[in-house]
Amino acid sequence: TSTGTARTPAAPARTADGRRVPLLANIGGPRDVAAALDNGAEGVGLFRTEMLFLDREDSPSLEEQVAVYREVFEAFPGAPVVVRVLDAGADKPLPFLRPTGDEPNPALGERGIRLFRTYPDVLTTQLQALARAAEDTSPLLQVMAPMVATADEAAWFTALAREAGLAGAGVMIEVPAAALRAHDLAGQTAFFSIGTNDLSQYAFAADRELPSLAPLHAPWHPALLDLIALTAAAGIPTGVCGEAAADPALACVLTGLGATTLSMTPTAVPWARAALAGHTVAQCEAAAAAARRAAAPEDAREAALVHLPGLA
Ligand code: PEP
Ligand code: MG
Repeated sequence: TSTGTARTPAAPARTADGRRVPLLANIGGPRDVAAALDNGAEGVGLFRTEMLFLDREDSPSLEEQVAVYREVFEAFPGAPVVVRVLDAGADKPLPFLRPTGDEPNPALGERGIRLFRTYPDVLTTQLQALARAAEDTSPLLQVMAPMVATADEAAWFTALAREAGLAGAGVMIEVPAAALRAHDLAGQTAFFSIGTNDLSQYAFAADRELPSLAPLHAPWHPALLDLIALTAAAGIPTGVCGEAAADPALACVLTGLGATTLSMTPTAVPWARAALAGHTVAQCEAAAAAARRAAAPEDAREAALVHLPGLA
């Protein structure tokens, strides 16, 4: 249960030598806010807005959206809140946002930002609702787009966000092409947020929903770590918001790879905070380099832990 004292903002997360690594929460809506605050999240790194759109016959109105966004924003005055615009399609099909043709492979179809090419009004309404909800609450609102593959898509989204009065829009990096050409995308967007769940799915060509392929989704896989390093090397603020950030040892490794914020399921925040507090940036970087030199996930983890005493 939440109490007044539990809601006192936690001290900012830092490495042992003092580098700030904001620890943020992944949430699906207002009902997750208490868990985020109770676990000391410093803000929201991924607000999945699908919840508002599911189980309905049509898009939620601007007013309906404003009310829900406001409820979340009010809980984080002065704190970062990163809202991902609707990520429909593939595993989250919506009856009122159909792709233009039949899709034998929906995961490779019109999903995420691609659907907004067909339904631009849905995107502009959502951006307007977000801007309006932020007016009388005061989060440090940032919006980002899912499934961006190219610099052109990043530029298109940034322009629409700016028209809605939202500066500093970002894009998710969850398509390998976007990670490989992160330096191109960096010129068109204010920040990256790496979604390791989909980045892994597309890097390994392995459906994230298939239990039989779960071994390919090891977050310690050096191929995934390489893509993350490449993304961070583009030099703009780069968060990680996929499930990988929830492993305390990986929180250190991701920091060593250059991630500037980490967003995770709320209950993982205290563990990540303790792991970072116990290790320096140099140790995180050594762990990241050692993990990347390995050839397999188990070896990567073992090699990283040599540099992260106290984490097993
Ligand atoms: C991801 O793909 O890693 C991600 C954070 O988004 P989602 O899991 O909602 O697709
Ligand atoms: Mg995703």
